[in-house]
Amino acid sequence: MEFRSYMHIAMDEAHAAAARGEVPVGAVIVGPEGVIAQAGNRTREFNDPTAHAEILAIRSACAALDQERLTGCDLYVTLEPCPMCAAAISNARIARLYYGAADPKSGGVAQGPRVFNHPQCHHAPEVYDGLDAAASEALLKDFFAQKR
Ligand SMILES: [Zn+2]
Repeated sequence: MEFRSYMHIAMDEAHAAAARGEVPVGAVIVGPEGVIAQAGNRTREFNDPTAHAEILAIRSACAALDQERLTGCDLYVTLEPCPMCAAAISNARIARLYYGAADPKSGGVAQGPRVFNHPQCHHAPEVYDGLDAAASEALLKDFFAQKR
């Protein structure tokens, strides 16, 4: 089967998050039939430190499918997930994780706690990093440059 990336939808969500004054990170969840849910960061809007793009997308996809797990689904996110989101991705039984930019400061997949490599991790997705990483990194850099 030919690989089709959904990262452009995650990037759209990241841009929309930036326009709302949120840290520009976007996520999309894809099932066998296509896109199930998409979301951008809303921590400021919701006054909720857990309202990361991945968490919102997982909640929305689970609600849409009326199930507590997303077995067989893929998650695309513009930035390396933090430890909280990595744990949620594991609990949701996401099959494949595609992410863009690496996050040396807060990432929990390839650095920091490396959640999926932890012995307590019950389910690790296949991980593909660096997808459209340059675009995601540029968006984050612009956003934080404007904040200063
Ligand atoms: Zn997160």
